[in-house]
Amino acid sequence: MTDHKEKMKDIVALCKRRGFIFAASDIYGGINGFWDYGPLGVELKNNLRDRWWRDMVLCPPIGPDGAPISIVGVDSSIIQNPKCWEASGHIGGFNDPMVDCRESKKRYRADHVVVLVSKDGEGASLAFDKDATDEEIDARLKKLAKGKTRDDFEKAQLDQVPAEGFTNIIGPDVKNAGTLTEPRQFNMMFHTYVGAASGDDNKAYLRPETCAGIFLNFKNVVDSSRVKAPFGIAQVGKAFRNEVTPRNFIFRSREFEQMELEWFCEEEEVPMWFDFWVEERTRFWESVGIPKSELYFLDVPKEELAHYSSRTIDVEYRFPFSAPEFDELEGIAHRGCFDLTQHQEFSGTKLDYFDQAGNKRFIPHVIEPSTGLTRGVLALICQAYTVDKDRPSGVYLNFHPAMAPIKAAILPLTAKEEHVPLAQKLYLDLRHEFAVELDIKQNIGRRYARQDEIGTPYCFTVDNDTIADQTVTVRDRNTMSQERIHMDKVKDFLREKIVG
Ligand code: ATP
Repeated sequence: MTDHKEKMKDIVALCKRRGFIFAASDIYGGINGFWDYGPLGVELKNNLRDRWWRDMVLCPPIGPDGAPISIVGVDSSIIQNPKCWEASGHIGGFNDPMVDCRESKKRYRADHVVVLVSKDGEGASLAFDKDATDEEIDARLKKLAKGKTRDDFEKAQLDQVPAEGFTNIIGPDVKNAGTLTEPRQFNMMFHTYVGAASGDDNKAYLRPETCAGIFLNFKNVVDSSRVKAPFGIAQVGKAFRNEVTPRNFIFRSREFEQMELEWFCEEEEVPMWFDFWVEERTRFWESVGIPKSELYFLDVPKEELAHYSSRTIDVEYRFPFSAPEFDELEGIAHRGCFDLTQHQEFSGTKLDYFDQAGNKRFIPHVIEPSTGLTRGVLALICQAYTVDKDRPSGVYLNFHPAMAPIKAAILPLTAKEEHVPLAQKLYLDLRHEFAVELDIKQNIGRRYARQDEIGTPYCFTVDNDTIADQTVTVRDRNTMSQERIHMDKVKDFLREKIVG
């Protein structure tokens, strides 16, 4: 196993052992693509979510003109009127696994393509439309199969070929192998029935992305609040996608959380705001402990852009399973005025914006920084995971203090009568302001080791000197160095260190 794969395995094991992330329905053997967050995982996820909300909605960035920009939040339903998904293009479009050819730019239904796989395992496999005639097949074999005939091949359907086999397939309209993408389900929405009956009239969908609820409330927000374009609407919440192959721990799951901002502005201002958001989002990831050196900004090539987007930058992170390459953490897309225009058409409700200053109406363009909250949590854990053979735990989580699930542990050196009450007093004093833990049992080395493994930046230990002079030791997670400070100074110490 490569080091990177080994690392990922260790991270998954630590997440379970220490209570960050468990397989959903663990005691029943799990359910593929679903995960539960344990006592520490939920704190970490809340910390990332709260920081995003603070930086977007409560204390948004300063705009190019020097004044804070304006962003408000919403929390919309997971289930909406199904017409919403017709307007967004999620239903009524492709409903089957599709395969794209990078060379011919054609898109095929995976179950409409047959593949001829050579019986002796030599040479490439050839893909054909399922309706291709024998003559067409023979003609292509003659050109591309080096003297082999139909009898030398076995027939398979493209959606039955394992993913590893795709690099060896020559697509239906090209001459070289390896241009087909893996099958992708275009309608990945989970459905349910609303009310007692379970017919098509009652069919509804779990949202596959949170942004739709923002567009549906665009008019409500404009009419009820004092926002003036340019402005943003933000939402954090669950999204559901029936992914064909959930994988890489929580990276690609079927139930996950997103943090999305829709930034509404005039078309002419799009380039300026697009750059603004790429910069702001980079700053955000750096501020929670992801260094820029571990990020890659992929300017998505024109031919791979969603049909409504004229520019998208994927902010990618070097996850252990993708290393040395990167994989998507966040997408920043210019969505044009596609969504509002579609919802206006399908709902019959006007969704334009009246600009009083310029005395004009327009449908705003949208820039969307869209990030996976749960994917972000994975990035934070992967980034924090640090092997250190010199400490008893062998590993520690180097979380940014503001993200750490527990900010400080209060540890009486022994469970003796004299140490415990003072530790309890400190704990009761701190817990209103900080997520702190009082841990009394086990020898001090094991308690430090546990705090290292869960990424607690500071441990305060109460010992005999505390009784004499009210000082405690502070142990720093990363350096393991210790210093003494007065109990009265602990709060200020934490306030200074855990800057947000
Ligand atoms: P991908 O290409 O990885 O399927 P996408 O481009 O379809 O992702 P978007 O629709 O742009 O993803 O979603 C925005 C963000 O939501 C992604 O950057 C990612 O962080 C998160 N996300 C999307 N799908 C999943 C998933 N199945 N599990 C966890 N997070 C996801």
